[in-house]
Amino acid sequence: MQASPRKATVLIADDDPAMRRLMAGIVSRLGYLEVTVADGDAVVRHVAGSSCDVLLLDLSMPGKGGLEVLEYLVDNDYHFPVIMISGSGDIEQAVHCIKLGAYEYLTKPIDNTRLEITLKNALSESDLKHRVRLLGAAMEQSPLAIAITDTRGSIEYVNPSFSRNTGYSRDEVLGENVNILKSGEHPDSFYRELWETITGGEVWQGEFHNKKKSGELYWEQAIISPVRNNARVISSFLALKEDITEAKRDREALAESVQRFRELADLLPQPVFETDNRGRVTYSNRAGFDIFGYTPKDLQEGFDALQIFAPEERRRVRENIARRLDGGQSAATELTARKKDGAQFPVLVYSAPIVRKGKISGLRGIILDITQQKAVERSLRDNQEKYRNLFQSIPDAIIVADAETGKIVEWNKTALSFFGYSGDEFSAMNVSDLYPDELRNEAPEYFRNFVTMKSGAVQASIITRNGFLVDVDISSALFDTARTRRVLLIFRDISEQKMSEQLIRENIRLKNDFISNVSHELRSPLFSILGFSSTLLRDRNELDSGTIDEFLGIIHEESTRLASLIEDVLTISRIDSGKTVFKKEPLDPADIIESACKSLKLRADEKRVGLTLNLYENSLTVRADADALKQVVINLVENAIKFTPPGGQVYVSLVRERDLMLLTVRDTGLGIPKKDLEKIFEKFYRVERAGEETEGTGLGLPIVREIVNAHGGSVEARCSVGAGATFRVRMPLFTEGA
Ligand code: ADP
Repeated sequence: MQASPRKATVLIADDDPAMRRLMAGIVSRLGYLEVTVADGDAVVRHVAGSSCDVLLLDLSMPGKGGLEVLEYLVDNDYHFPVIMISGSGDIEQAVHCIKLGAYEYLTKPIDNTRLEITLKNALSESDLKHRVRLLGAAMEQSPLAIAITDTRGSIEYVNPSFSRNTGYSRDEVLGENVNILKSGEHPDSFYRELWETITGGEVWQGEFHNKKKSGELYWEQAIISPVRNNARVISSFLALKEDITEAKRDREALAESVQRFRELADLLPQPVFETDNRGRVTYSNRAGFDIFGYTPKDLQEGFDALQIFAPEERRRVRENIARRLDGGQSAATELTARKKDGAQFPVLVYSAPIVRKGKISGLRGIILDITQQKAVERSLRDNQEKYRNLFQSIPDAIIVADAETGKIVEWNKTALSFFGYSGDEFSAMNVSDLYPDELRNEAPEYFRNFVTMKSGAVQASIITRNGFLVDVDISSALFDTARTRRVLLIFRDISEQKMSEQLIRENIRLKNDFISNVSHELRSPLFSILGFSSTLLRDRNELDSGTIDEFLGIIHEESTRLASLIEDVLTISRIDSGKTVFKKEPLDPADIIESACKSLKLRADEKRVGLTLNLYENSLTVRADADALKQVVINLVENAIKFTPPGGQVYVSLVRERDLMLLTVRDTGLGIPKKDLEKIFEKFYRVERAGEETEGTGLGLPIVREIVNAHGGSVEARCSVGAGATFRVRMPLFTEGA
């Protein structure tokens, strides 16, 4: 359906109502819309607000006359045709009106036909003029540069935008050939093709790199179309052009920036990827292809991001993608990646949503291969474990404390058993708590020394949880951890070492004592032998035989004592040095005791000391060295006789006590003070008795103890003051097959 054309509006201005009616009738008959007014002011008002295509204007009206209205319209750029209606045929006035711009000058009475023709012509001319004006304005105001040339390229029209773009004013280019804009940047073929296109009646589109009047080059996008005349012959060319220098520069900058980012991404050693919002990979940098083994073709064919992860990880990856696509915070996720060839390796994936126009369109991420980091972590863990085990298995007690405060922070197993505290107790303790009360005040000072000394060792006493004082060597070392400074303390129990040092000292003292005692003991019989033998040698002729015999007797007696002393010394030192080998054999101790007592009977009789033997009725068997056992009996009985004044008694008995034999040697002699009871078994120890000089070496009892001990037995001394001494020897009985 075609819209009905707008009816032209004809404004009729006349003060005579009959004239207005007449003209309105004609106008309406012609099919136009008639609007009537009675004076000039009404015309001015009307045209200001409503449309008017033709004005029939009476020349003489009251108020503003026709001429005045015409002048007003011309002055105010009204372009519709004005047909003047006049009562007179004044030629001069008619010429004046036409000059002013009136379309026609008609005289009354109005000839209907004349008016009709004039109206039609005026309207069609006005329409044409209107279209030309419109087109002209459009071209003049177009932001596109417009140039019209003839068929040889000679410029016939350019608009202001053309001048703006090129710098050439209209006057400078009219009549010039368009090739004044040529920059020389395009090859001839470019122009040839252009001309072939447009002269062939086609529209050409393309970009020119042209030169402005100033010499500056610029880019323009152009559409050139041929324009045909009524005879359909190409008469000119119309070029519409837009300066795209800036847009092109922007486009190039953008392309370059895209390129730069691609290149940068390709430079990264880590895979960088993008996916769409269904998780399909849309981009990967070079490292992505290199590391995972996929090709750009795989990507074009489309593949899921899940594919680059181990199958068992895919559920997590899916959840992760969903979380990110939901706008979840970007974060690093540790996953196992999978190459195209199936090889797997640990990775850290950082991803973030891609937001376009406020919407999440996919994901972007970077994948870090953490194989090495994992290996380092593992070896670090292994090392830590190794050192922890090492630390725990060190046999010395080790405690680690904070260097600032002395607070205990770590300890090994030995420390737990050494100090007797539990781990919980340790963790609430300070190093100073390990010192006994009397050192507690100095403890912080000691600790400061450990810290300032850096490393070293000191001796100290510590107290265990059970209250035992232990002598220790404390070695310390200072070390720094990531955040704090620590002191490592190694406690070594030196109480045994101290004890053995003491023992060594004691032994040396005993040896010295032994030597001086031996020399002392040897000296008196030796001097006596020397004295008497020298007298004999010197005075033997003057001495009577009785005296000589007496002297020889003394020499013999002293030699015997000397021999027995030397024997004792040798015996004890042999036993001491572990060189004595006892020839143990089953024997009846009663036999040994009997024979020993028999050999001492004479001495007892001489001293008038009774010696009574009371032996177990049944036979007993012990495994013993007969000589050694006899020595034990002799030493004990000899002592008993020696320390029992004449008239006293010595009782020797042998009984069985469960699976032991019990030998008792009891006398009614001097007895032994309680304080000396244990000491009498020490070498050379002799009980000091006022005013008495009893013979003896102080070796008899030590020999007894050594022999008895070597036979798995024991010896003890008892005494009740004033009631003599009792010695008991116990030895295990020998049972066949035992
Ligand atoms: P000694 O050769 O001096 O007798 P012993 O080692 O046999 O050395 O004895 C050590 C000391 O023990 C003696 O000096 C003595 O004082 C004391 N003693 C040993 N036996 C008796 C005893 N039966 N009665 C009193 N004192 C004894």
